[in-house]
Amino acid sequence: MIRRRICGILSAVLAVMILGGCGGSTAGSPKTRYQATLMDLFDTVTTITGYAASEEEFRETVGKIQSEMTEYDHLYDIYTPYPDMVNLCTVNSRPGETLTVDERIIDLLLFAREIDEKSGHRVNAMLGSVLSLWHEAREAGIADPANARIPEAEALQEAAAHAGFQYLEIDAERRTVRLTDEKARLDVGALAKGYAAQRIAEGLPEGMLVNFGGNVVATGAKPDGSSWVIGVQDPDGGGEGYLKKIALQTGSVVTSGDYQRYYVAEGKTWHHIIDPETLMPGTRWRGVTVACADSGIGDALSTSLFLMDREEGEKLLAEFGAEAMWIAPDGTEFFSDGFRALIKD
Ligand code: AMP
Ligand code: MG
Repeated sequence: MIRRRICGILSAVLAVMILGGCGGSTAGSPKTRYQATLMDLFDTVTTITGYAASEEEFRETVGKIQSEMTEYDHLYDIYTPYPDMVNLCTVNSRPGETLTVDERIIDLLLFAREIDEKSGHRVNAMLGSVLSLWHEAREAGIADPANARIPEAEALQEAAAHAGFQYLEIDAERRTVRLTDEKARLDVGALAKGYAAQRIAEGLPEGMLVNFGGNVVATGAKPDGSSWVIGVQDPDGGGEGYLKKIALQTGSVVTSGDYQRYYVAEGKTWHHIIDPETLMPGTRWRGVTVACADSGIGDALSTSLFLMDREEGEKLLAEFGAEAMWIAPDGTEFFSDGFRALIKD
């Protein structure tokens, strides 16, 4: 989605990586391990690893992931309109109009509204008026670093007056949506990729691992019964080092970090997760990694926890049955109780 240019180094976007090489057939299993990479979906790189009886079978699965992800990518794109499709860009560009949309848009927006409420309005998909100012400043700053600027405080304040789910009507029965304020805008960047990843993963064969640009989903153990191993990236490692390894069979691991998308302006680094209270990038954490059964929830929670203190984060985790690891600005690592059990030595 979201034709944001991938800023910084590509590897920096891949917050968590699948560790281990790509081998041949597994002992005792007639299946062979295959891997494929898809570019440009949700503005990131998707890596698919799995075991199949033949290359043809694996290709078929990859094709299915690609076509479904492309549909979600287009539907949830807030920047680009597509012919013959009402997507979130259409909704953003036609405030005041009642628009009939695909059911997958209704489902995402209902989920986003729930997360807005449960996160105490920290992750607010109706913060687009504010987030678009940061997005424009970042794009301009990356294109012309010498003149990079951050948005004016006054402009951010004015934009914040047009943020919030009170400006979005959702009629699930009629499948319509309407922005009720001229300047209100949607930005689903905090949760759409994970939400789409989860919907797609639910239709996949068992024993696959898909990394949707740092949003990792596993659909069961490898054929030999062993777990997948996911690395939690070191924020200062430039995409190389790992702080922890997590063993996972089924479920998802998602990271939000200040090193994933950023630019430099006025002598400082400005990342992409905006605290709705200050309207500036959140400063509590360097990164938060969430492990949970559902990747949509994992994506929404990792962004939420990034903007909360640990106590509040723990409460939210308990509500969704999720676990987390926090990395503080001084490098200290914190873990929820259940997360420790997932760590592999
Ligand atoms: P993630 O990488 O999943 O943590 O999500 C970051 C993305 O979510 C940003 O690139 C923005 O598109 C969007 N975003 C940033 N701050 C917020 C916020 N406070 N509420 C909702 N969306 C946000
Ligand atoms: Mg997120």
